[in-house]
Amino acid sequence: MTDPTAASSAGRAWYADGLHFQCTQCGNCCTGPPGTVWFTNEEAGRIAETLGIDTAEFYARYARKVDGRWSLTERKTTHGYDCIFLDRASAPGKALCSIYQARPAQCRTWPFWPENLRSRNSWETVKRVTPCPGMNTGNLVPIEQIGILRDATPR
Ligand code: SF4
Ligand code: SF4
Repeated sequence: MTDPTAASSAGRAWYADGLHFQCTQCGNCCTGPPGTVWFTNEEAGRIAETLGIDTAEFYARYARKVDGRWSLTERKTTHGYDCIFLDRASAPGKALCSIYQARPAQCRTWPFWPENLRSRNSWETVKRVTPCPGMNTGNLVPIEQIGILRDATPR
């Protein structure tokens, strides 16, 4: 059944007026059920540099192969399967990315992933299910910026 909140191909995107988003650093999008955080070899190099280790050590300690692709590893916690770089200790009540400046494109483009932007209904569902308290709050992200992030999402 067609989602009535999706724009037709010829129509105006439902988010044409932009979307509000401001991360609260809750960490919910970096945990949950087992998942994958894809990265490229170039991104691996940047993360390794941030960590002060060589790329081979980064792969050995923090990466795993899933369906032939490289993903960051996870750690089981009381919250779920946390990304290995999710830091719950440094700031009370927050969960921070310990490699923030070097985080992969998959993380940089959240929550403006194509599947989340398919319709208003998709957007509201992912906000509720994650849950992501930063969606629909804070700064207005214009459609041009949304498009850049959407198109940079790794597939
Ligand atoms: S779930 Fe949303 S608010 Fe929480 S860390 Fe992720 S992007 Fe930020
Ligand atoms: S790399 Fe950072 S932003 Fe990406 S999932 Fe891991 S903790 Fe979250």
